[in-house]
Amino acid sequence: MARPIVATIHSDALRHNLSVVRQAAGRSHIWSVVKANAYGHGLARIWQSLSDTDGFALLNLEEAILLREQGWKKPILLLEGFFAPEELEILDRYRLTTSVHSNWQIQALAQARLSAPLDIYLKVNSGMNRLGFQPEQVHNAWQKLRNLDNVGEMTLMSHFARAEEAQGIVEPLRRIELAAKDISSPRSLANSAATLWHPQTHHDWVRPGIILYGASPSGKWQDIASTGLRPAMTLESEIIGIQNLYPGEGVGYGHRYRASDEQRIGVVACGYADGYPRHAPTGTPVYVDGARTTTVGAISMDMLVIDLTPCPEVHIGTRVELWGDNVRIDDVAAASGTVGYELMCALAPRVPVVVA
Ligand code: PLP
Repeated sequence: MARPIVATIHSDALRHNLSVVRQAAGRSHIWSVVKANAYGHGLARIWQSLSDTDGFALLNLEEAILLREQGWKKPILLLEGFFAPEELEILDRYRLTTSVHSNWQIQALAQARLSAPLDIYLKVNSGMNRLGFQPEQVHNAWQKLRNLDNVGEMTLMSHFARAEEAQGIVEPLRRIELAAKDISSPRSLANSAATLWHPQTHHDWVRPGIILYGASPSGKWQDIASTGLRPAMTLESEIIGIQNLYPGEGVGYGHRYRASDEQRIGVVACGYADGYPRHAPTGTPVYVDGARTTTVGAISMDMLVIDLTPCPEVHIGTRVELWGDNVRIDDVAAASGTVGYELMCALAPRVPVVVA
């Protein structure tokens, strides 16, 4: 018998979430962000569920090539552009749209021998201070690119640092307006938070990621509860051991939890080597046998332990939901001091995945 852990990817939830995004985005086109192997869901297994999108945005050439080889003909955007001039030949061959954030990329585009012009997204630094031209440098960069035969359609893009906050886009939008003052072009600004909560940022193309997978860009599940977004991944395992503790007995490494009374606990076949957060403290929510309960003690490499007090009928083999419809990944992440993004991306290769 195989170790009883499985991640289920819900194609219908992905399709549904895309339709929620479509509603929110109004007339804007949608780049579905599928970088990092579709946020851990597996690009090859999920892209067809999102094929009503207008384009896919990602990071790696390997992922872009996979989509082309599997038959995706519509646009693909490289969110961080190319990392070396030699890659332009591949962008040309697979017709990839690239972001441009640095002068060396403009030079590389000027010198490349391409079969046809490439569409580009000029990246404005609107305050994130990672990649992108400062607003006052944008005009110059724009002109240089506009004069190149290798450059086709041009779009202004930017990425918000604090779009989950009510006022978080005010200063970035001021910087973007400054950058765009002599430029009339399509724009792409909105990540998930801005797609949901700042319609004035939608413009021509929105770029949602996390909401397609049914988690919250703010890290708080309650913030998206009214949207109808559904978790696209369920992580489940089973009870593989049961112990009865006497008062004062400890559980797991370091005995980081001690029973204060007699207590029945269950051992679940899921640990940090499966992608469950090692920092999840005692009290992290888990769902078992129709009830919510919590972890107790330290998370081990291959196992974690849960309190069985709320679910006395549980036996060896009872199914346990680590995250999914009944326990939101956002809640597990929040308890562990991280965000749903990280947990999804960290699903370990050793966990078998089924697509439902
Ligand atoms: N656009 C860019 C440039 C990104 O880097 C990301 C992800 O980090 C996204 C859009 C999507 O962000 P989110 O998953 O918060 O919607």
